[in-house]
Amino acid sequence: MAKRVAVIGSGVSGLTSIKCCLDEGLQPTCFERSDDIGGLWRFKEKVEEGRASIYQSVFTNSSKEMSCFSDFPMPEHFPNFLHNTRFLEYLKLYAKRFDLLNYIKFKTTVISVRKCQDFSTTGQWIVVTESDGKQESTVFDAVMVCMGHHIESFIPVQSFPGIEKFKGQYFHSREYKSPEGFQGKTVVVIGMGNSASDIAVELCQTAKRVFISTRGGSWVMSRVYDDGYPWDTVFHTRFSNLIRSILPWPLLKRVYEKKMNQWFNHENYGLVNLGLGTSEPVFNDDLPSRILCGSVVVKPIVKEFTETAAIFEDGTMEDNVDVVIFATGYSFSFPFLEQSVIKVENNEVSLYKQVFPPTLEKPTLAVIGLIQPLGPIMPNAELQARWATRVFKGLTALPSESTMMTDIVKRKEKRIEWFGTSRSQTLQTDHIEYLDELAEGSDARPRILPLLLKDPILALTIYFGPCSPFQFRLTGPGKWDGARNAILTQKARIIKPTRTRVVRNSSNNSLISYLLKIFGLLALFAAIFVSLQ
Ligand code: FAD
Ligand code: NAP
Repeated sequence: MAKRVAVIGSGVSGLTSIKCCLDEGLQPTCFERSDDIGGLWRFKEKVEEGRASIYQSVFTNSSKEMSCFSDFPMPEHFPNFLHNTRFLEYLKLYAKRFDLLNYIKFKTTVISVRKCQDFSTTGQWIVVTESDGKQESTVFDAVMVCMGHHIESFIPVQSFPGIEKFKGQYFHSREYKSPEGFQGKTVVVIGMGNSASDIAVELCQTAKRVFISTRGGSWVMSRVYDDGYPWDTVFHTRFSNLIRSILPWPLLKRVYEKKMNQWFNHENYGLVNLGLGTSEPVFNDDLPSRILCGSVVVKPIVKEFTETAAIFEDGTMEDNVDVVIFATGYSFSFPFLEQSVIKVENNEVSLYKQVFPPTLEKPTLAVIGLIQPLGPIMPNAELQARWATRVFKGLTALPSESTMMTDIVKRKEKRIEWFGTSRSQTLQTDHIEYLDELAEGSDARPRILPLLLKDPILALTIYFGPCSPFQFRLTGPGKWDGARNAILTQKARIIKPTRTRVVRNSSNNSLISYLLKIFGLLALFAAIFVSLQ
């Protein structure tokens, strides 16, 4: 009989987990506490308990070719960066295409997951759910925890003395929905992550004054990268990854800094990143321009609040503050699990490859999507789920507990070296390396050298082009016949929604630039030839 798997949550991670279970012939049952799929990407006017909450204007900061599932490209007319409603539309198309809805029990909250008595032999779990006030217990062979990590607001009140006396309004960015109601107000946004930057930029168009108060600053990047391509399609290529992996860290850091400062000098904007490493950048095309126009003012961190004012670390003060928004990130926990299974300490967990608790007698519980990759989460969550379902099935084995622990320690050291020690970086991973590592477990890692002989065009596109999710469907048990074509046509899909007006002479221009390149190459060869005479 097929193994039964409980999937907790039906966001990005839950949906792909259901699909991976089905692909491996497992029997999934997904429990979703709300009444629909999409998780974080389903915007609601009101914050819902136990589910991530976003503001109305959220757009993705990872692009469509990089943020799709590996066997389901986004429709070519979709823009490169998607409004949350568009991304939800994509998730709905995915659920429909693979018939996932039949496996989801909505309005059903998982309240407890406990090992069965004979766990050490069966690896089974008792999952208790609650729906309409009624509780039910079911035994499952495996569990996939897909509840996201943007549910619990983190407001570090102890770091902000006086906030309890503040007579204005204060709340977490999770509560922020739209600029309505902020007309004429003076607002201080605390933090310098993507939420803080988006909110400050949006509010400065209606509020009277907007301050963004940061302790560490941040690198700010544009979604528009070299030649106007989406940033991640240029940044995340296997070729650039190789360069990054061979450069010594101090040199690489300099290269990053130079690149980040090419757009604008972060120091002059009070934004320089004081973190140790390359903590997650902020993607905001408007922030520098708003600062330049004086509509957003960058301040150091607030040292103290009075009834009406914010006093900053440099001694300056802003009086008559109406609203303080703490865009200070999130905490996470697993309320339905015992600490002996997963313990969260200082916003950190010890999971093998960020998926499996290393101390379980049987590898039958996996956490999917508990990561913050330096790229889109979707292909990472999908590969985690592909690997986990193969482990559940016994097709792939985990190493010994001590090997897993050593790996966890090493990964943590590397993370701190790269991303620093801030609590907002505890789930940070690199992108391509992590994808490749997971793909090893599901036998899906593309092999460039053999491919170079067999299909050189494809091999070169994989190596120099965007490291898009389709690369992980070319070979192995989850092979998808459409993968090759999806890779070779991704550039056309990127351009399609922007080239909405055909520009006359564009073909002539590209012909001229092509001829110029050939001429340049010939001139170079001639120069070398002459110098060798
Ligand atoms: P979620 O989307 O949070 O879904 C979890 C689901 O689990 C929810 O439906 C919830 O109701 C359900 N659930 C929780 N607890 C229970 C329970 N006990 N019982 C039953 N159901 C439960 N990532 C990117 O890659 N690109 C982006 O552009 C991007 N933009 C972001 C923008 C914002 C504002 C934020 C906050 C995050 C963004 N992220 C982005 C990261 C984001 O976390 C992922 O895109 C993605 O939503 C994670 O999906 P998930 O399924 O893991 O979690
Ligand atoms: P976040 O990335 O965790 O950022 C939290 C911010 O709060 C950081 O600047 C942090 O500063 C600061 N902070 C935390 N504790 C502090 C303290 N005690 N004192 C002063 N400052 C403190 O949270 P987020 O911005 O809400 O983002 C959460 C996730 O959602 C991220 O992965 C982000 O990319 C994603 N997101 C994406 C979009 C988008 O796609 N458009 C929009 C919003 C969010 P330090 O760095 O100094 O700790």
